[in-house]
Amino acid sequence: MEKITSLAKRRGFVFQSSEIYGGQNGAWDYGPLGVELKNRIAQAWWKEMTQLHDDIVGLDAAILMHPRTWEASGHVENFTDPLVDCKKCNARFRADQIPPENLAAKKCPECGGELTDTRKFNLMFKTNIGPAEDSASIIYLRPETAQGIYVNYKNIIQSNRMKIPFGIAQIGKAFRNEIVTKNFIFRTCEFEQMEMQFFVKPDTDVEWFNEWKKRRWAYYEKLGVKMDHLRWHQHGPDELAHYAKDAYDIEYLFPMGWRELEGVHNRTNYDLSRHTQYSGKDLQYIDQDSNERYIPFIIETSAGLTRNVLMILCDAYDEEKVASEKNAGSSEGTDDWRTVLRFHPALAPITVAVLPLMKKDGLAELAQDIRRELKEDFATDYDQGGAIGRRYRRQDEAGTPFCVTIDYETKENNSVTLRFRDSMEQIRVNRAELTAHIRKAIKEYKR
Ligand code: ATP
Repeated sequence: MEKITSLAKRRGFVFQSSEIYGGQNGAWDYGPLGVELKNRIAQAWWKEMTQLHDDIVGLDAAILMHPRTWEASGHVENFTDPLVDCKKCNARFRADQIPPENLAAKKCPECGGELTDTRKFNLMFKTNIGPAEDSASIIYLRPETAQGIYVNYKNIIQSNRMKIPFGIAQIGKAFRNEIVTKNFIFRTCEFEQMEMQFFVKPDTDVEWFNEWKKRRWAYYEKLGVKMDHLRWHQHGPDELAHYAKDAYDIEYLFPMGWRELEGVHNRTNYDLSRHTQYSGKDLQYIDQDSNERYIPFIIETSAGLTRNVLMILCDAYDEEKVASEKNAGSSEGTDDWRTVLRFHPALAPITVAVLPLMKKDGLAELAQDIRRELKEDFATDYDQGGAIGRRYRRQDEAGTPFCVTIDYETKENNSVTLRFRDSMEQIRVNRAELTAHIRKAIKEYKR
């Protein structure tokens, strides 16, 4: 994880928030490469969940919601972690994350000092709206995006004539006052979620739950994630949320071990029943064909976008011993080790880097011209500084799947070198066919 954190900072993927002031715990900033990677992961998910499904539509609900929402959802009452502090070293722990014997003996796992009693700590960030700071002005930063979907479910049925079964997808920020925020961007106080709520007829929930488990697993396969680093974890009775009938996590083997990446939950009709009760609005679905009325069951797929960024970084990270590499027309080789991020080309922040072998003799201008052409179709980068082998290494570290090198031959016959990140293979391609070649390579990419 240290290597990934340091690469992420060095190459401008992720910076600590407010670093010049000593950093803000639980918050991170996404730099030039990081924001591209995050956006592409979000786009891949959005495409998968909306564009490829006729029965799912999108939503972008506000972060600030009516406070009754969080009473109805159960968050005001139940969204708590058990907290203990060490009286000696002041370390703070989640009681469910320290060894049970330490908890029983009230002994700090770090310094052996005495622990406080366990107390419940609500994870919602609370603030005030308007000038008065009284109980009537309390408002919460949403701890999940899902509730924005539930409160809009009727609007969407009416405006878009949706028929059950159908889904609503949303990507957005969520906030949790997490007690322990270690492991880089794994668990943070401000993060983003990609959630989809699928509304189904009550007696079809199990079938749809299994279907969504299958689809979400296939999604990661399609992204080229190492499938032996993914597994299912079913929630036991002590883990199940109060509203859930069944729940499975997709876990990923992060450097610190297996951890939750995404949850697939059968939330029953809990959410819409509660919102019916708290809002006084009838949230029953009316089946126009059969005239049946019922409160739909909800199957939820809930993934962390920022946690997916970490997963993709971990999954792509590789160090490899390689033979020295040179380019046509150049005599220089490079060192023997490379760090490479093997992103799927659809996720890579930069798709194509254009590199003139030399700055002189019009090669730089020619390279800029070729880059201008490629810009229309791909995210590009241009680099003319330093030895070509070293420039390849820089692109490997950024996870750029294709490099295009312009040399003296390009001037003669319009051919360029196309270099593939993973195999380091180099082929000559005619400039006119470059875009089609790269497109095909992206489509056919296999890790
Ligand atoms: P945990 O038990 O790890 O606190 P959770 O089970 O409460 O997580 P959910 O409420 O199911 O998590 O949230 C859905 C997804 O949102 C998680 O699978 C995870 O990817 C992401 N997520 C949740 N909390 C955080 C956080 N503090 N930082 C980053 N991502 C998070």
